[in-house]
Amino acid sequence: MNSLKYDCDVCGSSDCVEIPNVRQYTAGQAIHVCKGCGLVYCRTRRSPEDLAIYWEEQMYGRERREQIVYDPERPVFAGRRAYAVSFLKKSFGGGLQAKKIFDIGLGEGQFGEQLREAGCAVSGVETSKENSKVLAEKKILHYLGTIEQYDTLSEVKKFEKVDIATIIFVLQNSQSATAMVNAAYNQLKEGGSLFIMMGSRILVPFRKPIGTYFSTLPQDVQPYHFSISTLQHLLAKCGFAITHFNNYWDDELMCVIARKLSRDEKVEKMKDDDQEVLNWFERWHHESEKMVKYIKKIPGVRYHGLPSEHTFYEQWQK
Ligand SMILES: [Zn+2]
Repeated sequence: MNSLKYDCDVCGSSDCVEIPNVRQYTAGQAIHVCKGCGLVYCRTRRSPEDLAIYWEEQMYGRERREQIVYDPERPVFAGRRAYAVSFLKKSFGGGLQAKKIFDIGLGEGQFGEQLREAGCAVSGVETSKENSKVLAEKKILHYLGTIEQYDTLSEVKKFEKVDIATIIFVLQNSQSATAMVNAAYNQLKEGGSLFIMMGSRILVPFRKPIGTYFSTLPQDVQPYHFSISTLQHLLAKCGFAITHFNNYWDDELMCVIARKLSRDEKVEKMKDDDQEVLNWFERWHHESEKMVKYIKKIPGVRYHGLPSEHTFYEQWQK
């Protein structure tokens, strides 16, 4: 599999600086901050098709649930989906009845099912053959392939245009966030809305030790670490204006809803100062080192679900 080195996906700048102290948490992989817009990202990435194969082989599969990293049935993920539906209902005052929704990264369709229960008609895209079988059982209309492949289909082969596109816990994992948001733009009706939700984000209070935020997995599996500013910048560039956002500085999640603009409407783009971003990571690194001693094991009790790819747990187990 070939990897290529990419410039900033948000602003296009090639000027960036490596974040010190991160390689020890990522098994030697570098993470950079863009000097143009402050985006934090993994520069070296495989192609969307190769990444789809990686996810299929390493992350998905109902039969391998015990061994694999990603289990959508984990209570924390169920809670996030419930939050998403509630946030959407609240933001669209009249509820979601009869809304047409296009979900990018359907997974096994748990979110799609919840949207359907809320009265929506759901279609979407999924890269995994295993997940596609589950979606077919659930009768969720979907395209099997990457969002980049879907976006290049002719209009007659695409699904009907929708009121709302949703990207939950997928944008930060995309090979190109710009390609994903552009595909959402193309799938939306005029004036439609894009909903994005993510757990991992930066420039918020430290919620966990940095060694459980980063993993030793290939970093191109989650190449982006957005702040509200870099997310807004990406959306503005792709023709969206944010209309709703949650209290992402408090909550476990960051959610935004953005309206599709016409091609002649423009929105000013926000950005982060790269030095501020570096300082923030420096503080997180030092704070996490101090935090380790407060994390206790209960004698004689086995803690379930230690994800071995996190360096924090290696420190803890010593
Ligand atoms: Zn940039």
